[in-house]
Amino acid sequence: VENLTKTYRSGGRELTVLSDVSFELQAGDTFAIVGPSGSGKTTLLGLCAGLDRASRGSVWLSGIRLDELSEDERAAVRNEHVGFIFQNFQLLPTLTALENVLVPLELRGVRGGAKTALALLERVGLGGRGHHYPAQLSGGEQQRVSLARAFANEPRILFADEPTGNLDADTSERVVELLFALNREAGTTLVLVTHDLELAARTGRVVRLRGGALVSDSLTEAAAAPPR
Ligand code: ATP
Repeated sequence: VENLTKTYRSGGRELTVLSDVSFELQAGDTFAIVGPSGSGKTTLLGLCAGLDRASRGSVWLSGIRLDELSEDERAAVRNEHVGFIFQNFQLLPTLTALENVLVPLELRGVRGGAKTALALLERVGLGGRGHHYPAQLSGGEQQRVSLARAFANEPRILFADEPTGNLDADTSERVVELLFALNREAGTTLVLVTHDLELAARTGRVVRLRGGALVSDSLTEAAAAPPR
């Protein structure tokens, strides 16, 4: 990420919500973005994942410069490399849990997708809920479906916005363990936005935003320890 700046225009006014943010991640890193509400964390995550385009600066992902691509080309890069867990889950409401997980598998042309989707739901402890629609699931269950869907992409990099935001302690721990297992087992790079400083400390590196600027960037003790 190089000199990333994002300015929104609304009502004839300009609001710069990210200014001149730069950092570099290696494949397989675990990384947390922290900072007060409104400091630009979600905006930064969306730009890194190619969901939105910066006003200035650039984002490189696996050697591809995202901001030079068209909307369709960015979507293709996302399908191939990126998983995203949104703050509000963004499951498709008219599809069952199983179908929500199946969509990325079918997009990638995976054979026997239904079996894989079921195995992924089992992995997040929801094997028995495949035929439930999102509205018939609790917030924590929807969060875990969105995790199973992100896993289905076998992403090289997974972006998660407040992955434990609305979860109780047990469900939260279960989700976090699944995220770190994906990093350990598949080498998936993890980029988390979180208000939970204990969770941030379990990643290898923490950057802090304040008012859209990167005010600190430090390795954690976990970076020196073997992965948990
Ligand atoms: P939180 O912790 O509360 O989720 P955040 O650090 O993730 O906050 P962002 O969601 O990135 O913060 O928002 C940063 C700033 O950008 C906020 O002041 C927000 O109001 C503003 N903002 C976000 N999206 C838009 C938009 N589409 N148009 C105008 N302003 C926006």
